Amino acid sequence: MAPQSAAELVAEHPRRGVLLILSSPSGAGKSTLTRALLDTDDQITLSISATTRAKRPSEADGVHYRFLKQRDFDVLRDAGELLEHAEVHGNSYGTPKEPVVRALEEGRDVLFDIDWQGTLQVRNAMPDDVATVFILPPSVPELKARLERRAENTPEDIKRRLRNAAVEIERGTDYDYVVINDDFERCLNEVRAILQAERLKRVRQPGLNAFAASLIGALSG
Ligand code: 5GP
Repeated sequence: MAPQSAAELVAEHPRRGVLLILSSPSGAGKSTLTRALLDTDDQITLSISATTRAKRPSEADGVHYRFLKQRDFDVLRDAGELLEHAEVHGNSYGTPKEPVVRALEEGRDVLFDIDWQGTLQVRNAMPDDVATVFILPPSVPELKARLERRAENTPEDIKRRLRNAAVEIERGTDYDYVVINDDFERCLNEVRAILQAERLKRVRQPGLNAFAASLIGALSG
């Protein structure tokens, strides 16, 4: 029988998806990066979190978040339907488990915009699938300016988010990758490069592993 080609083996052994987690202090430009990455890459889908935070005027339910009452959030959490959950800036946030499991089964990647607490939980639950990226703001004045420009947060909320930024950045030292968002295009390209490298990891390419084995077989036979 003729040896199978690399393309046949890749089709027979679908690749394993990447769970790409992006975290940053609030105001570092992560949401814009997330949108740009999603718009230019059709193999990755966004994990849409559930939250009890009030919807901002620019947001849509089911697109940016599933906006829930606290009791509905608690029902999801208590039923074990969240892969992770945490309290962030005084509200509950959590990642629905089912869409993540489904995407991995279909060989697709999932993008997460979650905080350090959620990152730890997802990493513990699925250590072989996760790649974590921390995004640094260029400076404190710029972080503050971005939060104020957004004009969708109250002054108290901005203060709270700035207070929490130090903790978030401190936790960022545990992430696999770090990038700085001082130049948006460069930062986006760096995140794309990370995703591409993660996709090429040997463990995520069973098709090419099978092809390598067939090459060895053919060369030694
Ligand atoms: P925002 O209220 O600005 O949309 O998000 C506030 C923070 O909550 C951000 O750092 C964001 O990454 C984080 N966050 C959003 N969704 C989730 C989630 O499902 N789980 C966790 N742990 N954090 C989340």
